[in-house]
Amino acid sequence: MQTITTTEVPRSKILLHQYKFSDEFLEKVERRTTEKGKLQMLNSERAFDEMYPDTESVFQRIAQTMFLKSNNRCKCGALISKRYIRLKGRKYKCTVCKRIVAPVAYTPLRNTKLPLHETLKIAFHMYQGKHITATQIKRIYGRKYRVTLKQLRMVRRWIGLAVEKYQFNPLHPVQADELFHLIPDGLGKNVRRTRGMGSQRITPVLVMGQPGGTYRAMKIPSVSIASIRPIINDTIAKGSTIFTDGKPVYEFLNREGDYVLQKCNHSSRPKMWSHPETGANVNAVEGANSRIKGKNIRVHRGVSEEHLQTYLDEVSWLITNGKMDSITALDQLFEALPPIFPSNEKLN
Ligand SMILES: [Zn+2]
Repeated sequence: MQTITTTEVPRSKILLHQYKFSDEFLEKVERRTTEKGKLQMLNSERAFDEMYPDTESVFQRIAQTMFLKSNNRCKCGALISKRYIRLKGRKYKCTVCKRIVAPVAYTPLRNTKLPLHETLKIAFHMYQGKHITATQIKRIYGRKYRVTLKQLRMVRRWIGLAVEKYQFNPLHPVQADELFHLIPDGLGKNVRRTRGMGSQRITPVLVMGQPGGTYRAMKIPSVSIASIRPIINDTIAKGSTIFTDGKPVYEFLNREGDYVLQKCNHSSRPKMWSHPETGANVNAVEGANSRIKGKNIRVHRGVSEEHLQTYLDEVSWLITNGKMDSITALDQLFEALPPIFPSNEKLN
């Protein structure tokens, strides 16, 4: 259990300090007496509009984060804060080496003239649990369906950047289970398919998670050692405990000895959902599975295989950040951006 010390600065105070709000809004926040109430106010759509009023405010935040990540140095070594001048559009110019830099070009938001704050707001709404679909955005902003679809894909790719950085806590067991994701092909249920087509309708997904912690879902070509091993090696620290159901494919973890495998066989009699001795279970991951299915099948009416991973990332982001405030979740997106010059990256 985490204990909250009295010396800790309230989150609302940090936010009020970090962003500029209008007096009218500040008064509204002040009127709330509890910390919870203040935070509620600061996580409202109204607050978002004050934090990011225009496309420039989001651009500034993106550029500053990326500059800071490359240690405030241009590729030529000059200090960015001193030597860079702002050009028209979303560009900067180095007065020393004459290099022209467009920070957004290195992010998932490249190739768009759409207002950046509007795109960020979509992520904000996604986080707040609104089921955002392209059709809805089309209605809100009066754009073409194709444009909003592209915009949503940018948001999901951005979220994907943040999710890629997620790590599991090595001190707690990681649950792993697979999910068989249906990819609708537009044909009816009882249409007879030629050989092999039936298998194309289903894509396996490896879902890993820690209750109350990080979740990740990854599209895999097949449920096999060859496709599961590299993902586990990349995402789970060696020596961690992994909980799975009785599937024999995970046995390699025990054989190779890098991880501790604990199983909970669901097909045993009587049926058990948690191992009586080790406590091994995959309940949290199964909960995540149903959320993924619910969102992709029911809300989006099915997603394409090509973009499935980005939809999986969106759900991973939502589940992992569960009870966090939405501003922290958005901060994560900025933090996930790459440095503008990777060679000058700050080592921390
Ligand atoms: Zn330069």
